[in-house]
Amino acid sequence: METSKVLKEKLFMKRKNAVLRMSETEIAECDSFCESYMDFMNTAKTEREAVAYTIELLKNNGYVEYTAGMQLNAGDKIYRNNRDKAVIMAVIGTAPIEKGVRLCAAHIDSPRLDLKQNPLYEDNEIALFKTHYYGGIKKYQWTTIPLSLHGVIIKADGEKITVNIGEDENDPVFCVTDLLPHLATDQMTKTMSKAVTGEQLNLIIGSRPFRDDEASEAVKLNIMNILFEKYGITESDFISSELEAVPAFKAKDVGFDRSMIGAYGHDDKVCAYTALMATVDCNNPVHTVVTVLTDKEETGSDGNTGLCSAYLEYFIADIAESLGSDGRTVLSASECLSADVNAAFDPTFPEVNEKNNCAYINRGVCITKYTGARGKSGTSDASAEFTGRIRRLMDSHDVIWQTGELGKVDAGGGGTVAAYIANLNVDTIDMGVPVLSMHAPFEIVSKIDTYMAYKAFSVFIND
Ligand code: MN
Ligand code: MN
Repeated sequence: METSKVLKEKLFMKRKNAVLRMSETEIAECDSFCESYMDFMNTAKTEREAVAYTIELLKNNGYVEYTAGMQLNAGDKIYRNNRDKAVIMAVIGTAPIEKGVRLCAAHIDSPRLDLKQNPLYEDNEIALFKTHYYGGIKKYQWTTIPLSLHGVIIKADGEKITVNIGEDENDPVFCVTDLLPHLATDQMTKTMSKAVTGEQLNLIIGSRPFRDDEASEAVKLNIMNILFEKYGITESDFISSELEAVPAFKAKDVGFDRSMIGAYGHDDKVCAYTALMATVDCNNPVHTVVTVLTDKEETGSDGNTGLCSAYLEYFIADIAESLGSDGRTVLSASECLSADVNAAFDPTFPEVNEKNNCAYINRGVCITKYTGARGKSGTSDASAEFTGRIRRLMDSHDVIWQTGELGKVDAGGGGTVAAYIANLNVDTIDMGVPVLSMHAPFEIVSKIDTYMAYKAFSVFIND
């Protein structure tokens, strides 16, 4: 007769903190990998900056820009820049392209405050910018924190100005104000979704008037004059600009044990960076590797830089044709990891999760079979067969992984790009890093989970 201890060991699923399953050497490797990730987070806060960072890294690693019709051979490394806001990269495999590609898809846009097209105004001798928030945010979280401004302005003559202000130690920052508690009696009785409204997310940008007694709107004039001197822009140039206010603080170690990273935009740059590094470190794969870092996920993936657009499909069709096949055949034989974050169990808010089916920090990269809301609506729901294949692959390469849903049934929900890729007849499953305080200005991930995501993507694309 076997003892219960032996039987349990044989029959029960193992749920164990990854730290207890890793060697000292591997933990040190993980910590050093995360230092580079934190540098990336301080450099690439927006989708445009992430694309610029990625293309520079790709060029330094032998990647060349791909144009349709280009001759391709096994081992070639190529990329395509989609409007400076999304990027696809590929390493051509030794197997025929009809065998399908190994696709990783992550997004590089994160929730933030976008400036409106006519943003600048003065009210009671304070100059402000009107904003329209981007993605799902809890608005009150975006008040009274330092914000920086990133993006581009296209001037009337077509010249493109790149803006990045608030990141350098000597730069000024911007801020959305909030009421003092002394006078917030009425505000404090409101629900959290109404206590700070979208139209109250105004950025404070100046308070000194232009020194001329005759002028009206003298503070606004003074700001416009500063902007003209710095960037050569006039007020109407805001119409053709994309300016994004994001948290100005840097990525930091969190905890006495430095086990976690706090930063703006882990969703989904933690999966974008790990997928990018796994791809850059991949040489001469069997299957052709395609990694896409996309835009617009946080607003539903629409638009020509989001994954509902055909840009990924066109790219795969183009390389398929360069290699003597066609997009339909290649996509139908392909496999995809939709690399996106999941919610980590938060001991302060345990009620939104079902503890047997949620992700925990430090238990490794999270495989999510389905997402969606209200009865799995809007999900691709990976098949048992494909889930089984990915599980075997991870186990045979010592990737520490777990599985988790996004919250309790009917507690809310959400989606990723998985469904849009699966709709192209690709076997797709979600895999990513659990995050605490997702979509907040300062999100938290575990260093070990981040490293395990890198390892998981590497194993998948090199298989
Ligand atoms: Mn995401
Ligand atoms: Mn998100």
